Amino acid sequence: KKPPMRKGSMADVPQDLIEAMTEVESSFTVSGEQLRKVVDHFVSELEKGLSKKGGNIPMIPAWVVKYPTGKEKGDYLAIDLGGTNLRVVLVKLGGDNTFDTTQSKYKLPDHIRTTQDSEELFRFIAECLEAFVKETYIDGVKGTLPLGFTFSYPASQDKINEGILQRWTKGFDIPGVEGHDVVGMLQKQMKAKNLPIDVVALINDTTGTLVASLYTDPDTKMGVIFGTGVNGAYFEQVSDIEKLEGKLSDDIPPSSLMAINCEYGSFDNEHVALPRTKYDIIVDKQSPRPGQQTFEKMSSGYYLGELLRLTIVDLHDRGLILNHQDMSELNKPYVMDTSYPAKIVEDPFENLEDTDNLLQKDLKVKTTVQERKVIRRIAESIGRRSARISVCGIAAVCQKRGYTSGHIAADGSVYKMYPNFKEMAHEGLRDIHEWTETDPSKYPIQIVSAEDGSGAGAAVIAALTEERLAKGLS
Ligand code: BGC
Ligand code: MG
Repeated sequence: KKPPMRKGSMADVPQDLIEAMTEVESSFTVSGEQLRKVVDHFVSELEKGLSKKGGNIPMIPAWVVKYPTGKEKGDYLAIDLGGTNLRVVLVKLGGDNTFDTTQSKYKLPDHIRTTQDSEELFRFIAECLEAFVKETYIDGVKGTLPLGFTFSYPASQDKINEGILQRWTKGFDIPGVEGHDVVGMLQKQMKAKNLPIDVVALINDTTGTLVASLYTDPDTKMGVIFGTGVNGAYFEQVSDIEKLEGKLSDDIPPSSLMAINCEYGSFDNEHVALPRTKYDIIVDKQSPRPGQQTFEKMSSGYYLGELLRLTIVDLHDRGLILNHQDMSELNKPYVMDTSYPAKIVEDPFENLEDTDNLLQKDLKVKTTVQERKVIRRIAESIGRRSARISVCGIAAVCQKRGYTSGHIAADGSVYKMYPNFKEMAHEGLRDIHEWTETDPSKYPIQIVSAEDGSGAGAAVIAALTEERLAKGLS
């Protein structure tokens, strides 16, 4: 269990530094009242996203039109293209709410996130699949293996086995993929290798999380990711998805439900709701895609370390910390990933010795204890803000759907690694709803750890899709 957060004594920190720190902290502080305003705007943006005209939030219909029953059965391949690894999983669905998985991870070559060769990524995925199938099916494959492809980027779908990439997020930037069907691009590379695999479904990680968790927990209301990126998925009434008008076959009546991949990382791209700090504005300006993913840039793991770095550099430039230190490492954008603020906040020592080591070894700066205390306080405020604004997406979806209780299935590196993230997120939900309950374990809406979305979730969705196909439905 994580150590409790301590407020170290700041008595020996110079007054001008205290003042600067307080100013930075308060710029990262979002009150309950502010959160409630954000949620109100969020609800109207979710609705806009479902309309024919559309809005900033894509609200992508995911073509999953059935809750899993737990009776889904069979062998399915699943792949998950993450920021650092490609995960390949063989999922055996037991047909009795259980599943077994066998998996391998393949590290993405460093340059691949920004390769200029649009086909290289999909060639790499096909190579990994080839290696996995060879190892797993020693006697060869009979027939064709159905595959669920978890692709954690906004991709438009007019059917479940396609995904037109709208835009890269989280630092991926490969030309020639945006505007194209990533299923087709993968299928092409698999064909070149004669792989007996058929991509039956393209799935966002949030949709996979939602469905995997529903497979074992019927109280699941949403699947959410607090990771390198942020996003959520939920089931919407088809009659409320205006933009599907004219696109539905008869077997999907207006009264049925369909999963929506919100892609709410792009919330507030018009900059009217979220209180941005000067550091948020720099992150946005210096990103490959300024003006996009505003909500995500303020809350997801890809940016938390960078936000901390920018505050440190700012305090240094103002002559308040790290005087006469070599800033060449700290001046490098994105040199600190989320593990830095996570470790600093978690440092159990009075004198912040872990933090000292981290800053000296990796970033080549010697800090005083007072400076480290200041850095830690700022890191705490950045993490707390992330948790509090992240849950605005949850509160907005729940409000829109009229959910007043239930489970929010969460996954992602920030959720799993960042100290006290879940507690701070629950505090945010409490402040938004003005719950008077004092025991967080009794809050009506509970964030719970998700089942494996990109393994089991992708497999269950592939199975649901095959069931439909077998009935002659598309
Ligand atoms: C992507 C989403 C994804 C989220 C979490 C965002 O950057 O646009 O598709 O669900 O990250 O991985
Ligand atoms: Mg992921």
